[in-house]
Amino acid sequence: MDPPRRGFIKLSAGAAAAGGALGSAGEADALARPLMVAQAGQPAPLGFNPADPALKYELVVANGDVLDPVQKTRSKRDIGIRFGQIAAVAPSIPADRAVQRIDVAGKLVTPGLIDLHTHLCPHLGLGLPADELVPITATTTAVSAGDAGAHTFGNFRHGVVPQSRTRLFGFIHIASIGLAGGLAPGEMLNIDYANVDVCAKAVAENADIVLGVKVRITDSVVGQNGLEPLRRAIRAAEMAGKQFRVMCHIGAAPGNLSDLLDLLRPGDVLTHAFSGAGNNTVQNGRVLPAALAAKQRGVIIDVGHGGGSFDFTVCEPAMQQGFGPDTISSDIHAVSINTPGYPTLPWVMSKFLSLGMPLEEVVARATSEPGRIIGKVPGPAPPAIGAPADLAVFDLIDGPVEFVDTRNNKRSGARKLVPVLTVRGGRPYGRPPLPIPFLY
Ligand SMILES: [Zn+2]
Repeated sequence: MDPPRRGFIKLSAGAAAAGGALGSAGEADALARPLMVAQAGQPAPLGFNPADPALKYELVVANGDVLDPVQKTRSKRDIGIRFGQIAAVAPSIPADRAVQRIDVAGKLVTPGLIDLHTHLCPHLGLGLPADELVPITATTTAVSAGDAGAHTFGNFRHGVVPQSRTRLFGFIHIASIGLAGGLAPGEMLNIDYANVDVCAKAVAENADIVLGVKVRITDSVVGQNGLEPLRRAIRAAEMAGKQFRVMCHIGAAPGNLSDLLDLLRPGDVLTHAFSGAGNNTVQNGRVLPAALAAKQRGVIIDVGHGGGSFDFTVCEPAMQQGFGPDTISSDIHAVSINTPGYPTLPWVMSKFLSLGMPLEEVVARATSEPGRIIGKVPGPAPPAIGAPADLAVFDLIDGPVEFVDTRNNKRSGARKLVPVLTVRGGRPYGRPPLPIPFLY
């Protein structure tokens, strides 16, 4: 655990608070520690000697305005990439040390975006192909929010993950059918689909790419089953192992929302936290005490914008009252991407710029913070030396811009992030210039 990362974790009130909320320090540590480094036990081995003066870089991303969300620095830098890792970050790298050089002068360079709530698995319900969307998402790592249940997970594992240059992880739905119902989901109308043993087995057996269990608590999804799907999701996660989380979707949840919030454990993820679909986290202008308590004990507060789950009139008072997001995610899928709210991750990030969140915080909540929560990628976060060479390059464009949420509330902003180029594992992709040859 490198000291800067440990320090950064303290930024996240949720993660920091988790330490005191569980019975033993060991249990608390399982979800609260900076897993991105700790899980691998040690930093990723380097495929090069960074001190070698003759070291050649396969790619240099030059002259960028490089934002490091962990070190909290922003400066003009050249980034040298070797063997898929970041090998140099310097004010200037001589041109003769680069096989390929892309000049990004005047553009913002951040770690490749990490989207904690997506549906980027084609052939599963409303999934979309991750790689094809990179020109508009700038996303190098994405998490499937329960597209697959235990009985459809093989599709994700064998059919989607190996074919994506985008790094993919997933939550397994507590419903064995996942979201295969597409536009007519209701996957928890029949509680028999919530088979705890089968779900726990699928989670445990796929721990390399699975973060935990997904559940959607909306009245049209659960019918008369109330919070039972959530209780079963928690049981399945606990049965699979203490490192596994539950991602719980809200929006028009049945019953008292506080009862739902009280069930969430430190490290679990509350997604659609700023939904205005009914039974919101903000009621009568005030954040529910149970929502604030959840954040304080370490529940991760996630945006999950989507096609119906982000309301400025919920998010604004929430942020003012200490219930801001820990992670900014898109909930991009085949329906939501066609709605006026346009939930690509850069566009959702731009909405948070318009809400007054500083750029550095916006970037951290869509890169290093979700990366820490995923916790399965060895090494530090980009752009540190030894990190995976996953980068996003943006135009940060000044000028009036209008945003709309999923309830037709409009807000004007002064800046927007527009993706220019994305690099995953050292390969620029999604938009030229592309490497020659473009191998594996
Ligand atoms: Zn979703």
